[in-house]
Amino acid sequence: MNATALADLSADDLAALLDEQRAAYEQLKSQGLRLDLTRGKPSAQQLDLADDLLRLPTSTKDASGVDVRNYGGLEGLRELREMFAELLWVEPDQVVAGGNSSLSMMRDCLVWMMLFGAVDSERPWSREEKVRFVCPVPGYDRHFTLLESLGIEMVTVSMNDDGPDVDAVAALVADDPSVKGMWIVPTYANPTGAICSQDVAARLAAMPTAAPDFKIFWDNAYALHHLTEEEAKSADILTLASAAGHPDRPIMFASTSKISYAGAGVAFLAASSGNVGWYLGHLGNGSIGPDKVNHLRHAEFFGSPQGVRDHMAKHREIIAPKFAEVDRVLTERLGGRGVATWNTPTGGYFVNLDVVPGTASRVVALAKEAGIALTPAGSSFPYKQDPDDTNIRLAPTMPPLAEVTAAMEGVATCVLLAAAEKAAAA
Ligand code: PMP
Repeated sequence: MNATALADLSADDLAALLDEQRAAYEQLKSQGLRLDLTRGKPSAQQLDLADDLLRLPTSTKDASGVDVRNYGGLEGLRELREMFAELLWVEPDQVVAGGNSSLSMMRDCLVWMMLFGAVDSERPWSREEKVRFVCPVPGYDRHFTLLESLGIEMVTVSMNDDGPDVDAVAALVADDPSVKGMWIVPTYANPTGAICSQDVAARLAAMPTAAPDFKIFWDNAYALHHLTEEEAKSADILTLASAAGHPDRPIMFASTSKISYAGAGVAFLAASSGNVGWYLGHLGNGSIGPDKVNHLRHAEFFGSPQGVRDHMAKHREIIAPKFAEVDRVLTERLGGRGVATWNTPTGGYFVNLDVVPGTASRVVALAKEAGIALTPAGSSFPYKQDPDDTNIRLAPTMPPLAEVTAAMEGVATCVLLAAAEKAAAA
């Protein structure tokens, strides 16, 4: 490994490095690659793990004898709610099991808050002059596009290793009643892998807010998605909020999209009884009940909360080597060069790569031209604007291991080339 930082190279050495990287890049292009590290999707091998679902359920009745093929049971199958209540550290009565997408549940909550107001709102949010949300960055692109589509303004705070910058959040919410909520992916965040600490969660739960109906969208999409044997436990936001006198502040979301099938799993919402009543009230105006056949086959397939944990260990065996490979290639190719920093997540679906400020778009464009699809630069920021043009989200779960290696070798070449170009132009 050549570990000289670019900043320490002489002009001649820098020119030589630039030539070397240009040649490496031409060689990369000539390989005619077609690789994709864009979206955090499970691989076919992971999906195969759940294929017994295709032969379930064996019964047409739930534990209490209700025919799951019929209408009804808006809150979802009791035994599946009990199973996931234990996994999410909440009470079964606080859990709703819905359709296949937690993002759709988040969308519904936001739309109903805009149209009707939250359970504790004085009026519909759409009647407010302005509605704003605090967004930790980098964050999940679909959260941001959803807010943007509804005309909700986004204010950013940085995502630290222990969760959002809670001092910044507290300052934003204290005096401005237009700040109605915030988004957070508390465990193995998309894309930084950060885990929100109990302390940060406690402060978010307790902080004074100018808006009486302030909401925390607690998107625990990766609660069970451990990459190591040490399994992080998510902060218990519902209890913390309730103890702080704000029971209706948090709404938790999760799903089995990356546990069973991404397109045919089960999504969950968990919240105070007030919020659950509010949610079911609005839901009932447009639904006579969820897909309880899917609920039952999931309940039969996993059998117990431990069944879910055991299943996730099988996912880990498949994907942990891919994350290790990303780290190996980045370390070998870029270590000591002073051109990039990245995280080594202990869970979730992403690696967060920060390249030389001002070069992220160039890296993504170079990679694209060489046949390697990366998430567009800026995607992890509201309005797709990364103020430093530095952040790239890598999603290594979907391609086979050999393709992860090839793609990361290519990415490393593009990062070095873009950095050398910038240094040479300076
Ligand atoms: N939240 C986060 C943070 C995600 O990364 C994803 C999937 N990429 C989702 C929600 C989507 O969840 P679902 O499939 O349940 O709609």
